[in-house]
Amino acid sequence: MTTFQLFLWIAAGALLQVALFLFISFWRHWSNFLYLKQKLAISTTPTVPQSAQEASTAHPTHIAAWKGIRNFRVERKVLEDSAGQVCSIYLIPEDGQPLQPFLPGQFLTFKLEIDTKGQGLKPVTRCYSLSDSPNEKYYRITVKRLTSPDPSRVAPGVSSNYIHDHVKVAAVLKALAPAGQFYMNANSEPVVLIGGGIGITPMISMLKWIFEHQPDRETWLFYGVRNTSELAMTSQLLEFARVHYTFQLHLCLSDPHAIEPDALELPFVHLHHVRADIQLLRRLLPLKAYAFYICGPSAMLQSLVPALVDWGVPQERIHFEAFGPASISRAIKAPSSRVSTSLIQAPAKLEINFSKSNKSAQWTSEMGSLLDFAEEQGISVPSSCRSGVCGTCQTKLSKGQVTYNTEALFEIEAGCCLLCISTPTTDISLEI
Ligand SMILES: Cc1cc2nc3c(=O)[nH]c(=O)nc-3n(C[C@H](O)[C@H](O)[C@H](O)COP(=O)(O)OP(=O)(O)OC[C@H]3O[C@@H](n4cnc5c(N)ncnc54)[C@H](O)[C@@H]3O)c2cc1C
Repeated sequence: MTTFQLFLWIAAGALLQVALFLFISFWRHWSNFLYLKQKLAISTTPTVPQSAQEASTAHPTHIAAWKGIRNFRVERKVLEDSAGQVCSIYLIPEDGQPLQPFLPGQFLTFKLEIDTKGQGLKPVTRCYSLSDSPNEKYYRITVKRLTSPDPSRVAPGVSSNYIHDHVKVAAVLKALAPAGQFYMNANSEPVVLIGGGIGITPMISMLKWIFEHQPDRETWLFYGVRNTSELAMTSQLLEFARVHYTFQLHLCLSDPHAIEPDALELPFVHLHHVRADIQLLRRLLPLKAYAFYICGPSAMLQSLVPALVDWGVPQERIHFEAFGPASISRAIKAPSSRVSTSLIQAPAKLEINFSKSNKSAQWTSEMGSLLDFAEEQGISVPSSCRSGVCGTCQTKLSKGQVTYNTEALFEIEAGCCLLCISTPTTDISLEI
């Protein structure tokens, strides 16, 4: 054989290897693509359970467990973090009746009476996520104490400090029935939960529910805090990660000087010194049709939700809830079940007048609820649950008509509307 022939043989061998490599890569991507396409087709078909297991775990049709207020006695109170800033309270119904199940991720709305400035009791309405899995005996909520950003001028958080300092065992609290559209679905699709700060509370409920009903479901949790002193409910999370082989626990510490206590150096804990952001998700998550559940500060939602959409995650697979008063801007609002724009039957453009703010603006159907719209116009409206439960955003409607995108669980006064779940059907005037 001549040198030239040998060279040709080597070149042909190398070419064959490259061709084989390209073929295998293409084939792998193609099968992944077909798998994802099939999964998406299945999951976008309205919710018929796909298997016997799914049928048995599917959530029951959810209706409010009771109407109006129900009294709950505090049975137990426990601290959930090393800094003593997060506590859980266990609540049992005073009427002794069993508790109907809620959906994992839902919240309770509390009607508190608090003497904030030494001027007598004032009504305070606040929502707190249920932080345990549904059971007949008790509800658990977990509350973070909010300090003041400027103690010389601004008071600390009214309700959270009241719960920490004054709500003791045997105290009675008034609550509305569990509600909310942010809850874990009962499909068997793999899920990624992302909790920022105290946004971990609904995630604990979702995780417990998954482990009780779908122990084989692939589940990831990214829990973002600044440093380890802000971690809450760690012992539960570590226990989940130790026991459940389908669960991946990722703790993300955004403070670069955060110290890792030895207690977290465990084979089943993944520690990261970065935020729980899109770069981390893209680096770690395999190519699969995940559903994402996000709860945390609005800054986290504002960056993550659009980044997931840009990454190609279909909007119906992104579910989120913000705890703070700030909403996520409509431009990046993923269409979760929370807002049903399809029900809106309104003319293309409507004139909305905000009489007290002396402003008018044009609303179109893609602009979302009247609460989103008011906030977008720079009008600050007191709000809390953003799902028609707590009544905080009830506002006088002096002209025109609105429609509700979901059933209001709050009894709306005559001549008023709930901005968080309503959209206009005519030109309207609101007294804000
Ligand atoms: C659906 C839902 C679920 C929730 N789940 C949970 C949960 O599981 N756990 C949890 O801890 N929270 C949860 N929250 C948040 C909770 O409802 C309260 O908003 C939170 O506890 C703060 O209420 P607060 O009365 O203590 O604070 P607020 O009195 O409302 O004050 C909030 C912050 O603003 C500051 N502030 C007050 N006045 C001013 C001012 N004039 N200027 C600047 N700053 C000011 C306060 O110092 C405080 O830091 C949830 C919220 C929602 C909507």
